[in-house]
Amino acid sequence: MQTKLATIPVSSLKGVGPKVAEKLNRLSICSLEDLLFHLPLRYQDRSRIHPIASLQQGQTAQVCGMIEASDIVFGKRRSLVCKISDGTGILDIRLFYFSMAQKKQFVRGQYIQCYGQVSHTGKNFGMIHPELTYLKDSAIPKLQEGLQAVYPTTEGLQQRTFTSAIRQALSQLKRSNVTELIPQQWLEKLDFPPLADALMMLHQPPLDISLAALESGEHPLIKRLAFEELVAQHISLQKIKLKTQAHNAISFRQNKAKDGEFRRSLPFELTNAQNQVISEIQSDLEKKHPMMRLVQGDVGSGKTLVAALNMLTVVSANYQAILMAPTEILAEQHFKSFENWFRSFDINVTLLTSKMSAPLKRTALENIASGDSKIIIGTHALFQDQVQFNQLALVVIDEQHRFGVEQRKTLLEKSLQANQGKYRPHQLVMTATPIPRTLTQTAYADLDLSVIDELPPGRKPVTTAVVGSEKRDQVIERVKQACLNDHRQIYWVCTLIDESEELQCQAAEATHQQLIERLPELKVALIHGRMKNDLKQQVMNDFKAGKTDLLVATTVIEVGVDVPNASLMVIENPERLGLSQLHQLRGRVGRGEKESHCLLMYHGPLSQNAKQRLKVMRETNDGFVIAEKDLELRGPGEVLGTRQTGAIAYQFADIIRDSDLLPDVYFCANDLMENSPKLAEALCTRWVKSKEDLSRV
Ligand code: ADP
Ligand code: MG
Repeated sequence: MQTKLATIPVSSLKGVGPKVAEKLNRLSICSLEDLLFHLPLRYQDRSRIHPIASLQQGQTAQVCGMIEASDIVFGKRRSLVCKISDGTGILDIRLFYFSMAQKKQFVRGQYIQCYGQVSHTGKNFGMIHPELTYLKDSAIPKLQEGLQAVYPTTEGLQQRTFTSAIRQALSQLKRSNVTELIPQQWLEKLDFPPLADALMMLHQPPLDISLAALESGEHPLIKRLAFEELVAQHISLQKIKLKTQAHNAISFRQNKAKDGEFRRSLPFELTNAQNQVISEIQSDLEKKHPMMRLVQGDVGSGKTLVAALNMLTVVSANYQAILMAPTEILAEQHFKSFENWFRSFDINVTLLTSKMSAPLKRTALENIASGDSKIIIGTHALFQDQVQFNQLALVVIDEQHRFGVEQRKTLLEKSLQANQGKYRPHQLVMTATPIPRTLTQTAYADLDLSVIDELPPGRKPVTTAVVGSEKRDQVIERVKQACLNDHRQIYWVCTLIDESEELQCQAAEATHQQLIERLPELKVALIHGRMKNDLKQQVMNDFKAGKTDLLVATTVIEVGVDVPNASLMVIENPERLGLSQLHQLRGRVGRGEKESHCLLMYHGPLSQNAKQRLKVMRETNDGFVIAEKDLELRGPGEVLGTRQTGAIAYQFADIIRDSDLLPDVYFCANDLMENSPKLAEALCTRWVKSKEDLSRV
């Protein structure tokens, strides 16, 4: 009988003392088996030397050469630049952080080996802060064989600690001493190899495998592990769902009279899709366990009213309902709408945001705690400790892609305290980010799904044009005509690449100034996240009331803002944004009677990918098509924004790459949960752990 790797502690390895062992334990790596599931992030090919003449932009390469010259250069930022030559070309090595000792090492005639990413700096190719090795002479150094795995690391645990520990664990790995958790019949059905083979190859890729094959993930050995992780994650989400359903919640019947009265007070009829989703939510509210539902609806599909009607059910029974929005502007806007809708019902609506003045906040907090206020609209401020809810029974989260799982959990815990743990509130999350169905089923398997797949009648699609920034003057002229001749209101959106709010605001301020000077006949206003709350509110009100013609804004207006009369939008540097974000922004127009337009004013030259993305925006207004394209062009991590969205972050699997596996994943997960609960449990323990603090770059 062999000792299982799962029973051998990591501390038995050479180089793993008590301190390292403790750090590993904190990452849930206790045994050699756990260690082998610490899978590589990517691989490095250090098995050859690349001639400088063959280098390509963006490639990761290894170069050997002789130092020709080195100098400190005073540009925007001081840097040490060293030119090396290998007889085929010159490569610039650039260091922004360097010591004088380093400068002295860069002497002409010294041979040097460097490994890093190739960038284009000036006229030569270059590398910024590559890994450097000083060589004795011009002889090619001894190179590593095969591909080298790069592991995710964390503070205090170095790459080489993992490399060495994993190498030792691999030397003990046999087919018979790792725990196979996928039943044999599933391995056979899918023609998957044994676990040990897959682990061995991922850590030490054989010489004959190409890096491309590994990275594309098509190899069955990789599929084998991806399958296992997907099954584990699916089981874990199903368990969350079952657990939620085991809790109590208040069951609500619809108040038919009030519902009818509310609908009659609206100047329009709800769409069929809105009605359908409202009744799906209503039947959840009738149950005695908490609803966990995700509502998807494209921008402008009328999600707010869907929420309002369901909140009406709850508050009519004298319970509290809250609506949480990701920005102050949006919270204010919702507050206005709700005040308006609920006024005739004598239902008190309260706003709570962190930037409210102290006395206003105090009153709001009192009303919330006493239960005088039944509908509460707010931002993250609703999480704060001073907030005490009173009989909270429904939590609606708007634009949920802006909130993390953790924030949702905090709110849930709070609401539980409010009810002395007796019952849980129903939860509704709404998103305008249309996520393709395959992804939702997997990444949000703990939620039920409703889709508002119809826009209110009379909406005209937004016509989108793409123009280069050299036509800025013409664009400004067009803005002027649109306003003076067509009486349109206009958004001018400033974006920046690194989402630094500070810089974005500065850019918006500069543009605001410029447009005031260029368009003296228009009333031009500015809004950005750094402005005082009252001022922001004032600016938004004026724009809504038609007192301003042109609103210069940062992407703060991306989510939810609703001004039907605005019918032209200029977006600067659209190439810097993701498709879904552009779609959100553009959704701010096309809400009224007028035919709407959007001008995407890019800064050339555009990459191939950027060209394609802007083309998609020009060709379609359909959020689902855009989401599919976004996936294709950027990958699921970006689209789901894994960290932020509350969707799960896979360690290894990739739901697009592995989407062919999904039907079997569901079957296998259900099979295990029903027939082999122990295996199901063990799979979750193996794969579903928090590795948040691991660096994944
Ligand atoms: P989103 O789904 O993007 O959050 P909103 O809830 O902000 O959309 O609604 C967008 C606009 O459409 C609002 O002005 C709202 O009053 C209006 N609206 C909602 N439902 C309908 C409807 N059935 N018919 C006409 N207009 C509607
Ligand atoms: Mg909305």
